[in-house]
Amino acid sequence: MEGWIFDIQRFSLQDGPGIRTTVFLKGCPLRCQWCHNPESISIHPLLGHIETKCVYCGACQLICPSQAIVVVKEEKQWTINRERCNVCGACVTACFTGAMVISGKKVTVEEVMSEVLKDVTYYQQSGGGITLSGGEPMMQFDFTRDLLAASREKGIHTAIETSGAAPRRHFEAILPLTDLFLFDYKATGDQLHHQLTGVHQQVIMDNFNFLYHQGALIEVRCPMVPGINDTAEHLHAIAAMERNYPHLSQVRILPYHNTGNSKYERYGLHNPLPHLSTTTEEKKKEWESFFHREGCTKVLIE
Ligand code: SF4
Ligand code: SF4
Repeated sequence: MEGWIFDIQRFSLQDGPGIRTTVFLKGCPLRCQWCHNPESISIHPLLGHIETKCVYCGACQLICPSQAIVVVKEEKQWTINRERCNVCGACVTACFTGAMVISGKKVTVEEVMSEVLKDVTYYQQSGGGITLSGGEPMMQFDFTRDLLAASREKGIHTAIETSGAAPRRHFEAILPLTDLFLFDYKATGDQLHHQLTGVHQQVIMDNFNFLYHQGALIEVRCPMVPGINDTAEHLHAIAAMERNYPHLSQVRILPYHNTGNSKYERYGLHNPLPHLSTTTEEKKKEWESFFHREGCTKVLIE
């Protein structure tokens, strides 16, 4: 079984308990306006150009068999016609500064597992394991299921970070293979949810309720974007989740940071919210006070 990934991060401490290896899968059905991994949205590999590393030598232009790149050294200008580019990778090999990159690599389950198995001792000592993230791992369902099954076979703790936007039967299939669901809750109200993410909330909440009532261990994850989704209604709904779903392991607020902005330029993608600022400490304290007043004990602001 093969699948597309765009990163494997060892020694990850933020994607579930203990020391973990996080595997980032490509492909996502959502279009969250604040996405900080926009290169993950397409399931196909993407060519990127890191401007700060480019010395405008023109080697990429010379090697490109599709004449997709034009470099004007005198004006420090690098441009690409992406319609011509077939992501052959020749320019990546030719670029000696590392300015050309490709996001997306086809790998087998065995190849991923050989990376994951390197840190088994750390998982055992820390209570860690593997986390599948993305993108939306459920977009490559067969690959995701096989990775979870292979990890389970080796006795490795399994977690999956999901938007919840996937067919119910897929969640049914991975439920017995998954120790922890890191389940996103992105906005309150179907209209706003659709406006901000491009998908309706109902199917997501139906999947959430299904997993919860089947006894799945769930940590709710709320990306919080000041001025975009941090409405009073949303804050109250998050507080209510803790009351209505007492067996949640945690409700984690993920304050927006704008470190993903440069990726939009790098991969030639449209950034829907280019002027958003990283969440201030003051704003985080405001949210913290709100959840404290609401008597929440499981809400954690990162
Ligand atoms: S080969 Fe690399 S450094 Fe040279 S122009 Fe192309 S991207 Fe820039
Ligand atoms: S990936 Fe291949 S086709 Fe695309 S710009 Fe580079 S050399 Fe040209």
